[in-house]
Amino acid sequence: MPMCVAIARKTWPAFCFPQVVLVILFSAALGAQAITAPYDVREIAPGVFVHEGRYELFTPRNFGNVSNTGFIVGRDGVAVIDTGGSPRVGADLLKAIRAKTDLPITFVINTHMHPDHVFGNAAFVDEKPTFVGHRKLPRALAARARRYLKANEELLGKEAFDGTQIIAPTLLVGDKLKVDLGDRVLILEAHKTAHTDNDVTVYDKQTGTLFLGDLLFAKHVPALDGSIRGWLALLDQLSQRKDVARVVPGHGPASVDWPDAFAAEKRYLARIADDVRTFIEQGRTLAQTAKEAGLSEKDAWLLFDAYHARNVSAAYAELEWE
Ligand SMILES: [Zn+2]
Repeated sequence: MPMCVAIARKTWPAFCFPQVVLVILFSAALGAQAITAPYDVREIAPGVFVHEGRYELFTPRNFGNVSNTGFIVGRDGVAVIDTGGSPRVGADLLKAIRAKTDLPITFVINTHMHPDHVFGNAAFVDEKPTFVGHRKLPRALAARARRYLKANEELLGKEAFDGTQIIAPTLLVGDKLKVDLGDRVLILEAHKTAHTDNDVTVYDKQTGTLFLGDLLFAKHVPALDGSIRGWLALLDQLSQRKDVARVVPGHGPASVDWPDAFAAEKRYLARIADDVRTFIEQGRTLAQTAKEAGLSEKDAWLLFDAYHARNVSAAYAELEWE
């Protein structure tokens, strides 16, 4: 999306300045504050668009634009897949959609509960879509609502947090669910506990594009909030699929080639599981393990220091009881 479109939302004049003028304007008016723009989307297959989020933690500067979002355009309507980390990011996504099509947004699908994937939902309420998610998503969001809202407000600051609300799905995926956008069938699948206990994948039959949500991290270190054994087992199972042309990670490039997509993530998770099992056998404590397990992976991932020790702790808690 061109920069001029994105700033129009901020009651700035809705016409295009040369980029140089824009930069000066931003610097003067917003100080160090950047905005989410340009919120660009790439058409990775006919009618399938993806925005690649930044490889960053939530900050007031990025408005929670740290995860991938996407949309698929059918004959009669649009399905949105994840909405970003704040209403502001959701609004930018909506603008990007409107730059491509005027069709109604019929579905907003959340791939899982994490704030960077669901907190843009509020921007879509006026479009009156059906919100869709894993059958366990409403419960997961309700249980974490207070913690998520508090953390987001702290990390994003007032401006970016403004308007945030938790919007739970009303159409639930129990096992598999087919939705039709008009000559375009999407197959949604609810998975057993892996990255979280409420991961949903979205498969576009027409192009063989599979949206994996955070079941796939590329470049960005994985974040474990479910079951390391379940995640590894699910990756093995998904790897068998022959009907996939490309996949979209929750964090990483907009489109990743199949079937090699899982190689790095599998290696990372298997390394942690192996190291943690060894350390448990040796009687090492959680604190010692968190400091040392999986360190051979350090240079392979962005944001390693922000997530890795937590991943090891989660794996330790799970594998201790094997
Ligand atoms: Zn995420």
